[in-house]
Amino acid sequence: MGWEANVRTVTPYVAGEQPKEQGVIKLNTNESPYPPAPGVARALREYDAGILRKYPDAETEPLLSELAAYYGVEKEQVFVGVGSDDVLAMAFLTFFNHPTLPVLFPDITYSFYDVWAELFRIPFQVQPLDEQFRIKEEDYHKPNGGVIIPNPNAPTGELAPIEMFENILRANPDVVCIVDEAYIDFGGESCLKLIDRYENLLVVQTFSKSRALAGMRIGYAFGSEKLIRYLKDAKYSFNSYTMNSVTM
Ligand SMILES: *Cc1c(COP(=O)(O)O)cnc(C)c1O
Repeated sequence: MGWEANVRTVTPYVAGEQPKEQGVIKLNTNESPYPPAPGVARALREYDAGILRKYPDAETEPLLSELAAYYGVEKEQVFVGVGSDDVLAMAFLTFFNHPTLPVLFPDITYSFYDVWAELFRIPFQVQPLDEQFRIKEEDYHKPNGGVIIPNPNAPTGELAPIEMFENILRANPDVVCIVDEAYIDFGGESCLKLIDRYENLLVVQTFSKSRALAGMRIGYAFGSEKLIRYLKDAKYSFNSYTMNSVTM
């Protein structure tokens, strides 16, 4: 029918299977096999449900302040979202808007990137890994509309040194570079320390893997105040209450 010509079509990301049967050792979505910290259960038990009659803090203040204090950055350098998937989707929408040049990411990587690119009509070009499944830095030294690389990469588990990201940032001052650090707590140096030096760097992390809280949906990002401001403007244009009170 005619109306279908104007539908925004996309091949959706398919989340990892959640088997119903017992006795399965599940590896596919990298959830923690251990429960979250005991303080999580305590906070849920002690939560005053009466607060739920009100809308949550629109600025996600409680969580922003805690994250800023914990990581030693300014509150204005932190963004939170409903899982890092939400943070990443907003970042694609906000920062990857070059009319012609493609966004670059590795060919073996988190399989959501090409879904967002397709959804938002962002041209992209995947860059092959080397024989050892490592990222080739030189592939990211050419004209592009943005860069996104997970570190460690998934599902390869390959960690790249922070120097590689610094070189890529230096080569790409005119686009936003995103480092997806979903697994950085398991080992490796975070690019967080670079945000004061590179205004175009966004570092994305999550509570889903190392903190065993995939079900709570907490993702966050660090960047320059300017970068974070743009991200918030886009986010608040979808939904002014971005995170629920219980989670915060
Ligand atoms: C799991 C994962 C995410 C998304 O995690 P959220 O649960 O949405 O925070 C993002 N990037 C990579 C590389 C992942 O493995």
